[in-house]
Amino acid sequence: MQTFPATIAYFSMEIGLDPAIPTYSGGLGILAGDTLRAAADLGIPMVGVSLVHRLGYFRQRLDAQGQQYEEPATWNPEQHLEALPPSIRVPLEERQVSVRVWRYWVQGISGWKIPVYLLDTNLEENNAWDRHLTDQLYGGDAYYRLCQEVILGVGGALILQALGHDTIVTYHMNEGHSAFLVLGLLRQLCQGELPSQWTAELHEQVRQRCVFTTHTPVPAGHDKFAADLVRRVLGEPAASLVLHLDGQPDNILNMTGLALSCSRYVNGVALRHGEVSRDMFPGYPINSITNGVHAVTWTSEPFQELYDHHFPEWRRDNLYLRYAINLPPAEILAAHSRSKQQLLQEVERRTGQRLDPAVLTLGFARRATAYKRADLLFSDLDRLRRIVRHVGPLQVLFAGKAHPQDEGGKAIIRKVFAAAQALRPDVTVLYLEDYDMTLARLLCAGSDVWLNTPLKPQEASGTSGMKAALNGVPSLSVLDGWWVEGCIEGVTGWAIGEDGQRPSDPAREAASLYDKLEYVIAPLFYKRPMAFAEVQRSAIALNGSYYNAQRMMMQYLANAYASCGAISNVICPVVPLRQDSPNCPPADSSTPTG
Ligand SMILES: *Cc1c(COP(=O)(O)O)cnc(C)c1O
Repeated sequence: MQTFPATIAYFSMEIGLDPAIPTYSGGLGILAGDTLRAAADLGIPMVGVSLVHRLGYFRQRLDAQGQQYEEPATWNPEQHLEALPPSIRVPLEERQVSVRVWRYWVQGISGWKIPVYLLDTNLEENNAWDRHLTDQLYGGDAYYRLCQEVILGVGGALILQALGHDTIVTYHMNEGHSAFLVLGLLRQLCQGELPSQWTAELHEQVRQRCVFTTHTPVPAGHDKFAADLVRRVLGEPAASLVLHLDGQPDNILNMTGLALSCSRYVNGVALRHGEVSRDMFPGYPINSITNGVHAVTWTSEPFQELYDHHFPEWRRDNLYLRYAINLPPAEILAAHSRSKQQLLQEVERRTGQRLDPAVLTLGFARRATAYKRADLLFSDLDRLRRIVRHVGPLQVLFAGKAHPQDEGGKAIIRKVFAAAQALRPDVTVLYLEDYDMTLARLLCAGSDVWLNTPLKPQEASGTSGMKAALNGVPSLSVLDGWWVEGCIEGVTGWAIGEDGQRPSDPAREAASLYDKLEYVIAPLFYKRPMAFAEVQRSAIALNGSYYNAQRMMMQYLANAYASCGAISNVICPVVPLRQDSPNCPPADSSTPTG
């Protein structure tokens, strides 16, 4: 039912398409998948572009001390995807690497389909090293990563052309990994060759086609490559071009800088993240569009049934979740109790441990890395024991992978294991292996309270708390990322610490976390279950109705994709929208050009 030619191409190094397809590592990839799922629901003419990642990210194993081991997450593209005939050639160093493409269809609620193209270099005509270029997500060294990004950006732009997608007016770069697509666009603009003469007009033509979403306020999270390496891999004139365009010192290529200088619209992924990004990259007009999650994907079956019964329109139009404000608290408690049962059954299946459904259960699952502070809850074990003695028992479920090269992240997992050992038998703490979409669905829905303790201001948005809200699970979180906007104290959940603007003070935040648990949350949970259910209800009505991917996509349409403010140009592309279209004002010459 793809009736309109696609006008928007969405590029992402990772995409969470399906729990059986391990082409994602975490939040960024899940967001990409949720974006495409919402776009399909809304009938937006979009295509997705990523790499096939035959070895996935990795499968996580943890030993008894919490030491992480990584195994390849091998899968068979043949089983899930359709191989397409055209192959293209991407120049890399002195050679041409052949790239072919696999297609996956994301189908929306009314049958609208969005094709996703996953690029693959595992072809006989390529040399052995090149054949593995599209194997491992975030694997290898800087050289491997740089080559992968050339395949994604340049290869992606070329393959769209080869497939006949000639009506694309907007190229959306999800994070800077795909910024080399500007090289592919330049080739298209100059009849297949890179221009020998760089002009402001060419730059503007590229800018008019690109949109960029930045995803991390942590400087180390932005991709950078040494200029020598860039010169070796890209050759001239491409290397000089991108090193000039990124607006940074010439010995380093900053992929975020490249994307910033080549985009007509740039956004961060939450109100606070926009502010932090503007400080990081002064001179660029950086907007905000707060992330959202795909509601149907992340809502447990018990809550799907509840919503279907009371406001069945919610699947087509997530705004109907606002009507949850009228749900009977007893029905929310009943649905939640079933979600919790499903989670605890899976915990028992995986670990052999039987948890008590009557006990207050905290969930914490995210990438294991230092700033996420999975260990903040264990700052004072005696205080935690006292809380349990005074107000009732506590169970805590953890999950999350550390990047194979993140020793600090791996150490945090071991610290959680050590705390779990020390707290036995007063508090039950379990760390579940191999966090993925399937486990996230269970954990976000089946926990009673969703805990998040990032070091401010390093959380760009965070999305697992949004999944929790859709399932009536309130958050207890540091005021960072989306929680700055999403927290109404005692109504949608609870804040750890106070001021959203100041950097974290770990000791005060730990004390605040314990205070909220001891004096507010546990008493509410154990002594006033109907009042607890009212918090659950407002989490759905106020946050579920807003922090979903349909609202996010509508905002991308209105702010990012509709370059002349006319959404109809994006949705019904009768004529490809061009820079010289009569509806477009001349480009604003005051914007920075890098
Ligand atoms: C939602 C999700 C994430 C992102 O969660 P954050 O709260 O942003 O850290 C990561 N991994 C998986 C598997 C997810 O489902």
